[in-house]
Amino acid sequence: MSEVIARGRLVLEDSVLPGRVVVDRGRIARVELDEAESAGPWIMPGFVDVHVHGWGGHDAMGPDGSLDGMARALLRRGVTSFVPTAVTAPIDALLEFGECVRRWMPVAPADGADPLGFNLEGPFISPRRIGAQNPAFVRAPADVPFRELEPLAATPNVFRLTTIAPETPGALDLIGALAERRTWTSLGHSVATAGEAMAGYDAGARTTTHLFNAMSGVHQHTPGLATVALSRDDVYTEVVFDGHHIDRLLWQLILRTKPAHRLVLVSDAVSLAGTGDGRGTLGGLDVEVHGDECRLVSNGALAGSVIALDAAVRNLARFGVPLPVVSAAASANPLALLGVSDRGRIVAGLRADLVELGEGFEVRRVMRAGAWHEGPAKV
Ligand SMILES: [Zn+2]
Repeated sequence: MSEVIARGRLVLEDSVLPGRVVVDRGRIARVELDEAESAGPWIMPGFVDVHVHGWGGHDAMGPDGSLDGMARALLRRGVTSFVPTAVTAPIDALLEFGECVRRWMPVAPADGADPLGFNLEGPFISPRRIGAQNPAFVRAPADVPFRELEPLAATPNVFRLTTIAPETPGALDLIGALAERRTWTSLGHSVATAGEAMAGYDAGARTTTHLFNAMSGVHQHTPGLATVALSRDDVYTEVVFDGHHIDRLLWQLILRTKPAHRLVLVSDAVSLAGTGDGRGTLGGLDVEVHGDECRLVSNGALAGSVIALDAAVRNLARFGVPLPVVSAAASANPLALLGVSDRGRIVAGLRADLVELGEGFEVRRVMRAGAWHEGPAKV
């Protein structure tokens, strides 16, 4: 027997209880509750980031080796599974990106976050809510025959997510065609009316790209996508809880409105994340990192984030959100969105992906499929 044990305060689905997680051959063998562990670290399921463009100087769309570097950098932050995400780019470049991730998945490094497929943020978005995407590459769904996109979805469970603005011509047909292949649409980068947003979810969209950012919002006469995303209990919503994307006054509104099982923490991190202040590019646009913000040099618009999910978890925990709720939003909910059920909770039989956090929720160690890895050098 080669048992490994994680001990401390276990963040379970409905409670936080002291005890031990006994791991055997990469899986959780059993969970033993024991008061004696009550002074130990927090033990949470490994984090899952479904919207992340890069980390630690490595861009998901970068040259060979970038995905390895990104996966390793994310693992140290407690991210045990991730979905590398492309920014809006020419269709050919997106096809190439998808193929690159598909070929890489079986050979991804064992000391990195586990890839669950890829995500495309665009190109079927609204030029009127472009955010930090490159307007030169935006397309209308009606202008691109579906057969051009079909290679992306040729292998099941690889093309996982894509952002679409539901009001664009042809969007509803595309959302439906993708849903048939279990590629889930995230509504976003959109000026949709409430009716158009409803139609997008009814056509098969399951989630929402960075709630409130780059979308029609909450207005007493002209409610938009954000209003519908918050009011429909059947859809997920991504939120970037970095303290910059959404004013903290709105955090309470989101947390009170959205059912706890539909909240999905994402980083939306760019490759400059974790590299300190400096300049770089995102989808061909110049960006600058200052502190924990990343903005377009041209107009100062927020351009993704420089956090990893560990920071979002810390922010919410310190905000007073119950740890089981925070944990579900960081792990179980994004996996449920994708339809992945072999991990993401501290339950016997599941894959042993865990994060050990100190008193202030800083990552100390990370367990990936039963093997411990170092946390970040400093938080
Ligand atoms: Zn993004």
